[in-house]
Amino acid sequence: MQGALSLVGFGPGHGEHLTIRAREAIREADVVVGYRTYIDLVADLLEGKEIVSTGMTEEIERARAAVEAARAGRKVAVVSSGDVGIYGMAGLVFEVLRETGWEAGRDFPVEVVPGVTALSSVAARIGAPLTHDFAAVSLSDLLTPWEVIERRLDAAGRGDFVVALYNPQSKRRTWQLGRAQEILLQYKAPETPIAVVKSAYREGERIVLSILDRMKDAEVGMLTTILIGNSNTTRFGDYLVTPRGYTNKYALDSGELLYQGVDRPGRSLSRPAGWTPGTDPRGSGAA
Ligand code: SAH
Repeated sequence: MQGALSLVGFGPGHGEHLTIRAREAIREADVVVGYRTYIDLVADLLEGKEIVSTGMTEEIERARAAVEAARAGRKVAVVSSGDVGIYGMAGLVFEVLRETGWEAGRDFPVEVVPGVTALSSVAARIGAPLTHDFAAVSLSDLLTPWEVIERRLDAAGRGDFVVALYNPQSKRRTWQLGRAQEILLQYKAPETPIAVVKSAYREGERIVLSILDRMKDAEVGMLTTILIGNSNTTRFGDYLVTPRGYTNKYALDSGELLYQGVDRPGRSLSRPAGWTPGTDPRGSGAA
């Protein structure tokens, strides 16, 4: 019997945001491999399956176990939260495939199933922060030298990107977030809007809107993603809005192109007529 290997991202952690293919791929598997917390999030899909679930640090062993099981003819799903290819297990599994001489077409099939990454789910919770160019940076220096992370933060700040910080802080990694703030404050205004989102679409979800200058005051942990606006991002009630463009090209009501180019004045899209800062269309109590 031929085995199969699926790499499956199951989204932020709520069943509604698990794609149909991701659900199927987990259902089809005899063996499900993943980090304990992730396995728990899809527990309802796992009845009758063999589970290979080890701690966070044993990722290489997990990747090897998955490849070996597929080679032995089992149907294997490697699961991770969000998108399996975004700070996930996919890269490691492909490295093991290469190392063990796997060949597409000759050996068992490998499928990568896309998922809703934290960037998307966190953004959705706070409106429209990613409408323009953005950069994701993980602050985890367990596998990446801190100098590289600093260089990328610096470039993201210099480029006026909206910045998403994955893995911003853990019990052991506590100074990195303050350093990231310092670097970004070289380019971004202290009052730049930010969102600190813990466990989007999961139990214990917590959303705090703040400003870059106060980023360190927020409670930040392993399940938090931080989004930091660009120079055009504004707060709109419980939302952050990054306009589609930097120029005032469009009339909001008609969608009509007002003018071409960046050097002529026009109506600001970030503060159109009728814009009332502080109004929350969702009403009170929304988090
Ligand atoms: N593959 C995952 C990312 C894994 S790295 C994805 O695509 O989303 C782990 C980091 O992801 C966490 O430290 C946190 O920054 C972020 N994260 C994952 N799930 C999240 C959620 N539900 N809410 C907020 N952040 C989340």
